[in-house]
Amino acid sequence: MPERLGPALPQPLFQSLALIGMGLIGSSIARAARRKNLAGRIVAIDRDPVVAERVRELDMADAVETDAAIGVRDCDLVILCAPVGANGAIAEQIAPSLTPGAILSDVGSVKTAVARDVSPHVPAGVHFIPAHPVAGTEQSGPDAGFATLFFNRWCILTPPEGASPEAVEKLRAFWELIGSNVETMDAGHHDLVLAITSHIPHLIAYNIVGTAADLEEVTQSEVIKFSAGGFRDFTRIAASDPTMWRDVFLNNREAVLEILGRFQEDLFALQRAIRWSEGDKLFELFTRTREIRRALIDLKQA
Ligand code: NAP
Repeated sequence: MPERLGPALPQPLFQSLALIGMGLIGSSIARAARRKNLAGRIVAIDRDPVVAERVRELDMADAVETDAAIGVRDCDLVILCAPVGANGAIAEQIAPSLTPGAILSDVGSVKTAVARDVSPHVPAGVHFIPAHPVAGTEQSGPDAGFATLFFNRWCILTPPEGASPEAVEKLRAFWELIGSNVETMDAGHHDLVLAITSHIPHLIAYNIVGTAADLEEVTQSEVIKFSAGGFRDFTRIAASDPTMWRDVFLNNREAVLEILGRFQEDLFALQRAIRWSEGDKLFELFTRTREIRRALIDLKQA
């Protein structure tokens, strides 16, 4: 793999990093942090002993634990890498073991709900700075992770009001060192932006693949055989982790429903344009959307 992450730091940024949930994101952070020497010690935590054993075999951490309350002890950076809906209970479990001065963060795809669920458990003196690396694949588990997952991808920090600027800067440095471009925004705004750029596209993919699977006039084998470009791309997205995405929709309900309303109106307008043979309208829209794709390529996000 090309060494795009640059050289390792001479001195680690954190003394001890704990990652809770060693799936795609947790294991990618472990690999990247190790490659860049971002922590003197990396503790990988997974509640499932089988996964914990696999993490040991893959040798991406200095210690592997199944008990989060034990694993986070003496760590100055703790990152929750479980599905959004699990973070509140995990925060409650680890709260008594968190070290004063430590940074507690997460990687959840929804930010308002995570702040709501985790904040009440954060002990005084611990800095809670939520984060969302906008990077991923449709794969899950520790074997799916890789060190360059975050390279040239955005990581959005949503620090609550009154958050320590030093803690925010240190977390920003962590994500930048593993290759991310970091932006800071309000949690509510994050949820609205991600509803349109990530959550609704996943919902559409789940829906279209579900519709195709249920079509009685088309057999399953025909769907697979003739799944050219468009549909095949949807099936890749619709293969994303069911637990993670269930939690995303349940925890970003308002923003998703708001954007879905807009989407349905636009879909009706398209339906009307097709019905009334309004080719100009279709052509104008398809031209605008092509520009968006080109802009993404220019920004190296495609
Ligand atoms: P993943 O590969 O499925 O891994 C999830 C991990 O969380 C597993 O280690 C799992 O443990 C653990 N977990 C699940 N439920 C738990 C619970 N109740 N208590 C403790 N641990 C639990 O998922 P992922 O893709 O890494 O996603 C993790 C987080 O990253 C999610 O919050 C997601 O929103 C966010 N995220 C994902 C992507 C993406 O594209 N995948 C991108 C950005 C952010 P077990 O081993 O026991 O199953």
